[in-house]
Amino acid sequence: MPKDFLKDSRDEYDVVVIGSGLAGLTAANTLARQGRSVLLCEQHYKLGGMATWFKRPGGHIFDISLHGFPYGMVKSCRRYWTREIADSIVQIHNIRFDNPMFSLTTSYNREDFTRLLTTQFGQTPENVNAFFDYTRGMNFYDDQRMTTRELFDKFFPGREDIVRLLMEPITYANGSTLEDPAISYGIVFSNFMSKGVFIFRGGTDRLIELMSADLVHSGVDVRINCDVQKIHVEQGRVASATVNGKRIKTNCIVSNSNLRSTIFNLVGEEHFDRSFIDEARAVRLNNSSTQVYMALNPKERIDEATGDLFFTSTAPVFRTDLLLSRDITSRTYSFYYPSTRPQGRPRCLIVSSTNARYEDWANLPEAEYEASKQDLIDKTLDHLDGYLPNIRARLAHVEASTPRTFQHYTRHIAGASFGTKFEGLAVSRALPEQVPGLYHAGSVGIIMSGWLGAINYGVIVANDVDAYLMKAASKPVSRSV
Ligand SMILES: Cc1cc2nc3c(=O)[nH]c(=O)nc-3n(C[C@H](O)[C@H](O)[C@H](O)COP(=O)(O)OP(=O)(O)OC[C@H]3O[C@@H](n4cnc5c(N)ncnc54)[C@H](O)[C@@H]3O)c2cc1C
Repeated sequence: MPKDFLKDSRDEYDVVVIGSGLAGLTAANTLARQGRSVLLCEQHYKLGGMATWFKRPGGHIFDISLHGFPYGMVKSCRRYWTREIADSIVQIHNIRFDNPMFSLTTSYNREDFTRLLTTQFGQTPENVNAFFDYTRGMNFYDDQRMTTRELFDKFFPGREDIVRLLMEPITYANGSTLEDPAISYGIVFSNFMSKGVFIFRGGTDRLIELMSADLVHSGVDVRINCDVQKIHVEQGRVASATVNGKRIKTNCIVSNSNLRSTIFNLVGEEHFDRSFIDEARAVRLNNSSTQVYMALNPKERIDEATGDLFFTSTAPVFRTDLLLSRDITSRTYSFYYPSTRPQGRPRCLIVSSTNARYEDWANLPEAEYEASKQDLIDKTLDHLDGYLPNIRARLAHVEASTPRTFQHYTRHIAGASFGTKFEGLAVSRALPEQVPGLYHAGSVGIIMSGWLGAINYGVIVANDVDAYLMKAASKPVSRSV
């Protein structure tokens, strides 16, 4: 008999959360702390979604998406998780750039960027301050017509080198491009500029272990290997969900699954207004990525001055199409030192990441797919050898992931690394107006993605759900006469 991963679950919960990405985990935890009964269903055998890791023999543990987030994580983790989690967040200090336009190292905050822009890029302090103040003043309700390209043209016309310095890390951090609304750049950039770039000491495995313990402490019924196959809508509102073939009653669902899968696969378009469906169909997915994971031999060390995050490119200018091309010109390396995971075996690891299009990988026949992965590895090692000589001989393990890998493990359509583009946010927020009791929390709209965005969105949606349940409870029960 197959194992029953829903063994001893209840027949009914106040809320069912679909998916254990950071938004799903945080929504579940917040709601349970508010006294709600919560069932958290994750189809994978591990919690965390994109916030995940994998192990290879020899004590090598690779993080998938632990490259950097803004300081705001400390406050969010302290408030909505635990002090222990918040206290494990540490700053990384060496963010390096090397491309045909410039080579530099920065601590990636306003002070250091002001120094760079005035001394190395010849800008006046007044212009740099005006740019920082303008971006910091941006908020979600601003005019969304200005693109990031137009924002740069306003302050640094004709300066492709400055565009590259300002844009490259943000494209990496949330997939946004020069064609996206300027606020999607301004908000995220300002978040980073407040204090710099941070990571979680102990690695993603430790983070998720601490979060799992807190979920249990809060009373969430956490279930892995539990695939939510259908959200059932009756009389226009959420009534239940089918999980591993079992019907669970609930008036409220928070889906952390991809926004488009939630609408079109889990609920079904017949439950929404025609105009809403048109809007949902027009939501663009974010791009995906490829990664190459490299573990050094146990005794090999990399000098920490090599950097924590290293943005490299051979492209003469910064352009979105070049970033996405199969013919890779830009690679971002994350270096992990023994200090990243003090509780583990001392190891140095490197992850190379590159934006990628799903279409370029999706339909390759198996042999060609494997050959393309090997080619990705070979070219990455050739490139890295220029910075870390003799790298091949120093490695104990190397492997690659592609957009197909991300789709396989998280079910994100087209392996989107950051959910949907900006317009997804309005669609996500409008779900409960369409189907009362239906909520979505997860990577949408650039601002609400990434580790910090996902956690914060989880809290926002949990509070919406709590208000909805409170209102529903206070309504007099209608009696038939
Ligand atoms: C390569 C890469 C590097 C990244 N680097 C960074 C970084 O350095 N900094 C940063 O801040 N962010 C980074 N990100 C982005 C960040 O990891 C994500 O934005 C964030 O973790 C997404 O969280 P989420 O809540 O949207 O859910 P996701 O992580 O997308 O998880 C959704 C979950 O729902 C589950 N699910 C889906 N459908 C079902 C179903 N029907 N039933 C049950 N479960 C289901 C999935 O299995 C998954 O676990 C990176 C992402 C990638 C891919």
